[in-house]
Amino acid sequence: MNQQQFESFTASSLYCEKCKAAMPVRERLLLVLPDREIFDYLCTGCGSSVGRREVTAGDKMMAQAAATQPHRAPVSVRRR
Ligand SMILES: [Zn+2]
Repeated sequence: MNQQQFESFTASSLYCEKCKAAMPVRERLLLVLPDREIFDYLCTGCGSSVGRREVTAGDKMMAQAAATQPHRAPVSVRRR
């Protein structure tokens, strides 16, 4: 169930050299550093690593803000 949440905000397929095709990938958290997180993309066909992504703390905050509520976007501020 958790995996579907990850899939919803990440790239879904990358080229795999072993499969010689663009394959659906699974994202796995590889490393957590104080200022960033590093994710590994694994091919769902053969299980090999086909890519890697770094998410900085700033990127993560922006992604979360965009995904949940755009409270940092000046144009969509609402008051009640
Ligand atoms: Zn593959």
